[in-house]
Amino acid sequence: MVIATRDDLDDTTLDRAPELFSRHPLTLVSRTESPPKLDGIPDDPCWENTAACTGFVGVRSLAPAQSATTVRLCYDARNLYALFVCDEPILSVAQQRRHEFAAKVTDRDGDVFHDDSVIMLLDPANTGKRVLEFTINSLGTIADARCAAPDFWESRDVRWNSSAHAAGTTDDGVWRVEVAIPFADLAAKSPAVGDAWQACLGHIARARKENTSWNTSNRGFHDPRSPGALVFAGPALGVALDAPASLQLGKNPVVATTTPRAGQPASVYVVSSVGTSTGTAHSYQFTEAQDAPTKAVASLEVDEEAELQVAHAILDAATLQPLYLTPVLSRTVKSTVATVTLACDGPFELVLNDELLDRGQQAEAVEIKAPLQKGANVFALRLRNGTAAVNIEAPGLEPRSVNWKISSGDKTDATSPTTDDSTWETAAKVGEHPKLGDVIGRPGKAVLLRHTLLWEKTRIWPTPEPALHIARNSNQHLTVIADGLPKRKLIDWTVYLAVPPEFEILGSTGYYGIVDYQPSFLCTQLGEQTVAGRKMQVARIVANKPVMTGRHYIFSLFNAFVRTRDGLGETKGKETAFVYWTEANDGTVVEPQQTIPVRLLPPLNGKQPKKLVWQLWGSFFGNMNNHAMREATLETARLAGLNDLVAGDLWTSENAPKYGIQHTMGFNFQAWSLNMKPYLAERPDERLIGSDGQPNDGYVCTTRLLDESWHAVEAKLQEKIEATRAHTMDYDYEYPPLTGPHSCYCPRCLAEFRNHAKLDPDAKLDPVLIQDQYEQQWVDFMAHRVARLFRKFRDTIHRLAPGTKFSVYSGYQTPENPKRYGVNWNYVGEFQACDRAGCGYGRPVDAIPATIDGLRGIPALFGELVRPYDTKERIPAVPMTKARLLRRALDSTGGVLIYNRLPLDGRSWHAIAETTRLVATHEELFLAGNRTALSGCDEARVQVLGDGRTTLVCAMNGGNSNLDLRLLLPADAGGGREFYSGRSVTAGQTVSCTLPAGEAEVFVLSE
Ligand SMILES: [Zn+2]
Repeated sequence: MVIATRDDLDDTTLDRAPELFSRHPLTLVSRTESPPKLDGIPDDPCWENTAACTGFVGVRSLAPAQSATTVRLCYDARNLYALFVCDEPILSVAQQRRHEFAAKVTDRDGDVFHDDSVIMLLDPANTGKRVLEFTINSLGTIADARCAAPDFWESRDVRWNSSAHAAGTTDDGVWRVEVAIPFADLAAKSPAVGDAWQACLGHIARARKENTSWNTSNRGFHDPRSPGALVFAGPALGVALDAPASLQLGKNPVVATTTPRAGQPASVYVVSSVGTSTGTAHSYQFTEAQDAPTKAVASLEVDEEAELQVAHAILDAATLQPLYLTPVLSRTVKSTVATVTLACDGPFELVLNDELLDRGQQAEAVEIKAPLQKGANVFALRLRNGTAAVNIEAPGLEPRSVNWKISSGDKTDATSPTTDDSTWETAAKVGEHPKLGDVIGRPGKAVLLRHTLLWEKTRIWPTPEPALHIARNSNQHLTVIADGLPKRKLIDWTVYLAVPPEFEILGSTGYYGIVDYQPSFLCTQLGEQTVAGRKMQVARIVANKPVMTGRHYIFSLFNAFVRTRDGLGETKGKETAFVYWTEANDGTVVEPQQTIPVRLLPPLNGKQPKKLVWQLWGSFFGNMNNHAMREATLETARLAGLNDLVAGDLWTSENAPKYGIQHTMGFNFQAWSLNMKPYLAERPDERLIGSDGQPNDGYVCTTRLLDESWHAVEAKLQEKIEATRAHTMDYDYEYPPLTGPHSCYCPRCLAEFRNHAKLDPDAKLDPVLIQDQYEQQWVDFMAHRVARLFRKFRDTIHRLAPGTKFSVYSGYQTPENPKRYGVNWNYVGEFQACDRAGCGYGRPVDAIPATIDGLRGIPALFGELVRPYDTKERIPAVPMTKARLLRRALDSTGGVLIYNRLPLDGRSWHAIAETTRLVATHEELFLAGNRTALSGCDEARVQVLGDGRTTLVCAMNGGNSNLDLRLLLPADAGGGREFYSGRSVTAGQTVSCTLPAGEAEVFVLSE
C-alpha cells in the first residue's frame, strides 16, 4: 500500500491500515553497507540511520524504567548488529559506587546474567516456538543458548553456540555493548526486505536490582507478554521517540527525532493512539527532515480521568510503513478539576493555559469545569465590559473570591502561561455580587484578568512517603523546594505551614542570604487557627525577594524546623499530618492545601565518641542564614552522637564545640578557596600548563608548587585558617590525573616525569603522547606528586595552627582509583601525608583492607551516602539503617562519614543515634579490637570484635527482607547481654535471631 501523503492523514486512512498496529513493539532494522566497528563505542555512522528502541518498562511491573536503555539494530549480508546503550547511575563518577557495578564473568556461556548485562531473544522463524538467546555483559562476554517453547527458561540450553562476538565499554554514568550475530548461525538464510522476526530486548541492572525490557514481559525475559517485531528493511532513516512515561490531564508532549539519510529528505508522522473502554482515538503530527536531525513534537491530549491504553508510532509519511511502534501500555490518568463560578454582564472568554475553556455573551453565576495539570494553571478572563464576580473552587481550596491581575484587553501574550504578570496591577473591588461576593475590574473598559492556580507544585523533599518521620526530642528540618515558575517572578512567595498542637514550628532558614538576589525565608508565627477542620499551629514563611527558576539548588529551597512540644508527654497516636499551602503576587498566585503524613519515633539517644569521628556533611550548613536554626541542627546532631560537621565558616568553628562537635572545612584551588590568580598574574611563567597545552591562570605548576612557590600557597592557607579556624582542613581530591588541578605539562614537570618513569632524557612528550603511550606511568607519577603535596599541606597546617588536622577525601584503594580520582593511598600512607582519610561509599570488600593497609595507621572514615541527594529526584527518602552504619563502623578505622544532612529524617537520625551509642560505649574495642568472623556465618552479616576481655558479636541485616540467623556464641568469650534489648545470653549459647531489614543485634560478652 502506497499512499503519497503530506499532512492529510486522518483516522479513516489509519483505519484502512489496521495491520500497522498489530505488532507491538516494532522496529525497523536498517540495511547498512558500512558495518560498525565492534569496539563498544557507538561512533559508527551506521547507527545514525537506525530506529532507537527506548521506553523500557519493568519486567512484570510494566513501570517505567528508572534509567534509560536504548537499543539500535542494523544488518548487512552476513550479520545482525545491535548496539545497547545503558544509562547507569551507579557508574556516575560522582556517586562513588562504581565498585557495585557487576562485571565479572569472562567465560563464554558463564552466568553472564549475574552481571549487569543485556539480553536479546531472537526468533528468526517468527513462530514463537524457538528462540536464540544472547546475554552480554559490559566486558563483551556472551552467553548464547537455544530455548524452546513452551518454557524458554526451563529449556534454556547453553551448549548451543554461535560465532557471535561483542565488545563493551563503561563510562561516566553509562555502559554500552556492540554485538555482531552471524545469520548463518541463526537461520537458514539471510533475511529479505520485509521479513519479520520476533524478538525480546532486555536489560539486567544487576547492582540496582532492576530488570527492564523493550517489549512487555510476564515473569521474566523468557516469558514475553507481547514479543517485539524486528522488520528488516533497506537503507532507512534514523528515528527516535521520546514519549512521557506517565500522562497527565491536558497536553503531553511526544517528541520524535528524525535523521534523514544523506541527501534524502524524509517525512514522517508521529502518531499516538489512546484507547479507552469506548474506543480508540489517534493524534498525529507531520514533520519533514531535510538534511539534519529534525524534532517534531506531537501533543497527546488527555481530557478526562481514565484508564488508558497508550501506544505511539512513527510512520513513513509516504508509505505509512511503520518505522517504530512502542508497546501498548496501560496508563492511569487521575484528574483534578477546579470549578470557576462566573458572573458578568457582557461578553467573556475564559482561557486556561492558553486554551479556550468557555465563552459567552454574559454569565449569571455560571459554573465552568477546568481540568488542572500539575504545576501552574493560568486562568485568563477577557471581559468586554470590564467587570465580573468570579470564584475558584478546587480540592483543598475553599470556594472564595481570589485575587486577579488586570491589564487592558489588548495586551499581547496576555493569556500565555509564561507571561510575567507580577508587575500588573491587582484588580480592584468595584462592587458586590449577591452570591459570589466581590465584583472586580474596570467598569466599561475591555480588560483581561489573570489568576494562577498552582496544583501540587510546591514539593517537600525528599518525597514524604510513606511519611516524614520525626524523633520525639529532635529538631527536624523540612526541605521545601522553591524553584519558581518558568520566566515568571513570584513576589512575596509565602508558604503557610500548619502543625498539630503537640508540635511547634521553630523557624525557618534559607541559604546565602548575603547574595543580593537571594531571598531569605522569614518565619512569623500566626498562632492557632482552624485548618482542614482541625486546630493547628500555623506559621507563615515569606521569601523577601522574588523566587525564580533556574538557580543552583541551594538557592531554590528553604528549611523549616519543627519539633514536638516539651512537657506535653506522650502524644496520642504516632501518626499525624502537617498541612501547607502557598501564595504569591498579592494573592493572584494561589496553591491549595497539601498534606504531609508524619510519624513519630522514640527520642534520639546517641552518644558522641571521644576519638572516633562521626562526621556529617553539612549541605551548605555554613551558609545557613538563621543562626537559631543552625543551633537547632547542632543540637539534633549532638543527640544523634555525631561529633564532626563539614561546613566552612567561622561561626561553625566557634559554636559547634558547644555541642561537642568539631568543624571540618574543605578547601581546594578554586577562586573561592585558595585563590592563586593574583600571584600568577605577576608570575605568568609559574602557571600550570594544562592537557590542552595552554597555561592556566588559576593553578600553579606542580614542580614549582612542590618547591619554591609553596610559600604562596602557605600565605593563602594562612588567610583561610585565620578566617575560619576550622578544627580540620580537608582536601576533597577526586581529580583524574590527566586533567586535574595539579596535572602540569610544562617543561619542568615533563622533565620530572621522565625522571620518575625512567625515560630517556630526550624522550619526546606531550599530553597526547602521554595519554597514548605512558598513561600508567603518568597516573603513578601524579599519584606520587599529589601525595607529596598532601604531606606539605599536613606539615604547613600543623605549623601554622598547632592542633589543626589535615584530612584527604577520595575513593577507596582500587586499581582504578589513581586513574579515576588521582589518589593512591599507598603513597599517602608511605609519606604519612594526612592525619585522617575519608572514602566512600558502599562496601567494596577487596578495597576496604587495601585502603586500610595502604594508609599504614592513618585513621580512615568510610562513608554512607544517603539517597536521594539530588533535589530534582522525586523519590522517597531511603533512610539509613543500623545495619549499614554498624557495618561501616566495623569496616573503618577512624569512624564514619555521612553524606549529607538535607535528606535526613527521623529514621536516619535514629539509626545514627543507635549506632553511635554502641560505638561510643565500646569505643576502645572499635579502635583497637580484633575483627574476626563467627564460624558458620558470612562476615558481611556477622562480625566478631574482641580484645580478649570483651567480645561483641554483631549481627547485621543489610538486605531488604527479614534475615534469620543462628549464632553459636564463642564459648570462651563468656556470657552477657544483647546491647539493644538487654536480653541475656550464656557462654556458648546458640542464639536465633530474626532481623528485620536494616536491623542489627549486638551481643556484648565478657568472661
Ligand atoms: Zn609544571
